[in-house]
Amino acid sequence: MEIRKVVVIGSGTMGSGIAAHLCNANVPVTLLDLTTEISEKARERIKQSRPPLLIDKAKINNIDVGNIEDDFNVVKEADWIVEAVVERIDIKHNIYEKIFKERKNGSIVSSNTSSIPISVLSKKLSTEDKKDFCITHFFNPVRYMDLLEIVKSENNDLQKINTLKKFCELSLGKGAIICNDTPGFLGNRIGVFAMQIAMTEAFKMNLSIEEADATFGRPMGIPKTGVFGLYDLIGIDLMADVLKSFIKELPESDEFQKVAKEIPLVKKLIETGYTGRKGKGGFYRMNKIDGKKILEAINLETGEYAPSEKINIKSEKVDLKALINRNDKYGKYAWSVISKIICYASSLVPGITDEFNDIDEAMRLGFNWSKGPFEMLEEIGVVNFFDRIESYEGNKFLEELAKTKNEKFHGIRQKYTDIETLGKVKKTATNVDGNSSASIYRFNDYNIVEFTTKANALDYDSMDALKKATDKPLIIINESMQFSAGVNLTYTMEFADKGDFKSIEKFVRYFQETCKHLKYSDHPVVSAPSGLTLGGGFEVMVQSNFVASHTNIVVGLVETIVGLIPAGGGCKEMLARWLDTQEAKNDPHYAPMKVFDIIGYGKTATSPVEAEPLKYLRPKDKKIMNRNSLLDVSKKILTENQDFKPPKETIFNLPGKEVKDKMIVMLDKLYNDKIILDHGMVVAKELAHVLSGGDTNIDKSLTEEDLYKLELDAFMKLIETKETQDRIKHTLATGKPLNN
Ligand code: NAD
Repeated sequence: MEIRKVVVIGSGTMGSGIAAHLCNANVPVTLLDLTTEISEKARERIKQSRPPLLIDKAKINNIDVGNIEDDFNVVKEADWIVEAVVERIDIKHNIYEKIFKERKNGSIVSSNTSSIPISVLSKKLSTEDKKDFCITHFFNPVRYMDLLEIVKSENNDLQKINTLKKFCELSLGKGAIICNDTPGFLGNRIGVFAMQIAMTEAFKMNLSIEEADATFGRPMGIPKTGVFGLYDLIGIDLMADVLKSFIKELPESDEFQKVAKEIPLVKKLIETGYTGRKGKGGFYRMNKIDGKKILEAINLETGEYAPSEKINIKSEKVDLKALINRNDKYGKYAWSVISKIICYASSLVPGITDEFNDIDEAMRLGFNWSKGPFEMLEEIGVVNFFDRIESYEGNKFLEELAKTKNEKFHGIRQKYTDIETLGKVKKTATNVDGNSSASIYRFNDYNIVEFTTKANALDYDSMDALKKATDKPLIIINESMQFSAGVNLTYTMEFADKGDFKSIEKFVRYFQETCKHLKYSDHPVVSAPSGLTLGGGFEVMVQSNFVASHTNIVVGLVETIVGLIPAGGGCKEMLARWLDTQEAKNDPHYAPMKVFDIIGYGKTATSPVEAEPLKYLRPKDKKIMNRNSLLDVSKKILTENQDFKPPKETIFNLPGKEVKDKMIVMLDKLYNDKIILDHGMVVAKELAHVLSGGDTNIDKSLTEEDLYKLELDAFMKLIETKETQDRIKHTLATGKPLNN
């Protein structure tokens, strides 16, 4: 059977997210709710959503809307019916009765419940109907969260479950993991437990919330929101409901019960409207003092707020062994939290799943951890773990492992999918090389470079690894979310602070040289971006020979926002792309003016559909829904291009002063209207100089080297100004640009 038409019932947060994502996969979908007005409003919310739920906003009307009284006959035609109504069993039972009366024979029916067991949901169904009923637990926001838990029962037609799994994997791009019918399934059972452990241990060990978040965050391979930040993000009241549901569903003896008890401070926060970011604030809040916004953090003992302290525990890289061996409160806290998570997760195998491997992957896909509990155990070292752990009595998994002390018990990754993923392939590399900013995996017939810095920011070492890896066909791809957020500005500013501009110049030159090498080396280079692909990250991608892009990509040249201009070939490549159009052939001003507008405003695109009109991506670049497939598609590109010949160098004929004057007239108007301010003018004029070709005219041919030189000179002029340095520092400190 094939899934060609879907009906989603319930158009709230989840129903609308699921419908939008089906629309992303070009599957006709109808969204039903109690009234058409509610589902129409949901469609409007989808349209306005940020980050956008739709890859292509123009397709919004491909989502049909209606109500469950007048339009229920659409269920007859659907191959899959997803129920996403409120978490109330009576309401869900009523809906199932209606669905199973109306649906066509053999269609799949699933619930998006987060807490009701399948046995309870399907209690009133006939044995025949139970064959086609399962749980499909999506995470919010549906487009961006990769985890999908599929819960089956012993009554299911397994072939059908497999069809659904394949559809969700390949068409919707989800990491679909099959799990047993237990409370919270895999992701929430372990993820929420981990949050509760991180929180209760912080109380017990007298850590401030900033200290806990600085430890239970990047140093553990966990997103930097930490635990208290994540609580605020999810909603403190919502978390309280989730905990109540776990307390109700889990047996008294479950370790979860000990950490799920209501905490007086949390109760008080909810009662006073401090429900997190959506409320007045939560563990953190923004306060205005003398007209200045100040981030404050709560004191766990007194409940009072004080300005939040920046904690740097000096552990930039994930190194769990070093972290738990630290002889300070951070080390002790880390060991306590990690060991408890490992003990709890392992105690649940095989009850919640036969594959412990799936727990790790659920944490990766659903909570963005870089490693799950079992991989953490392998990293810490099995012998090391058993030397330190005090008790694991009754934990069958650990008791078995204690017998073998097998340091390599984990085995292959991502067992839940048949796709040949980067996670799987990395482990089979015959030879691994690299440096502190990137790893090179070497195989017989190709290389892989994976960036390994924070947000995959690029520095001299990243370039070194890329250059070194072009001795064979090369795929540039990352397992972590971002392809690259751009050049490492902290690294650049370290030189600027010392007045060492020579080193910055050397780095930019090396960046240019490497990108040129990527483009013209004898072997094909494929970039497989996903997530942030900005600034320098974009420049690496755009100077690769082929691109296989994930559909969740944020791409663009954003340098002007920090007072710089793209200098790694970004201006050059964008000019080349826009010069290669009919319009540019008719009008020599067309390409420079277009690129001036795009780079000048630091425009970004949030999907390939938005990226193509800007020419950040080309129609021939591959666009892929499932991030797991990026490697497979990249490898196919290499196979199809075995007789690869590097491209011919581009020649640029640019109008010079003529078009630069035109740009400056435009800038003067923006300046007079106070849309751009003093330093904005300086930056824009440098950009105008580069994009017009500098001191040239339309009959003069410029080479790529000429363009690189123009970019470098403009970049160096700007980085030497105090205003640009202030902008960079402000952005590094706050994560936000200075306005102008
Ligand atoms: P929601 O409150 O945002 O939306 C529920 C929708 O159901 C509302 O639009 C409501 O009008 C509609 N509804 C109520 N009764 C109905 C009926 N009889 N027929 C048709 N529509 C009806 O809820 P949500 O957050 O989208 O959650 C939906 C389901 O997904 C729940 O089972 C929840 O447990 C689960 N879930 C939620 C999240 C999350 O983060 N919000 C994550 C995973 C799973």
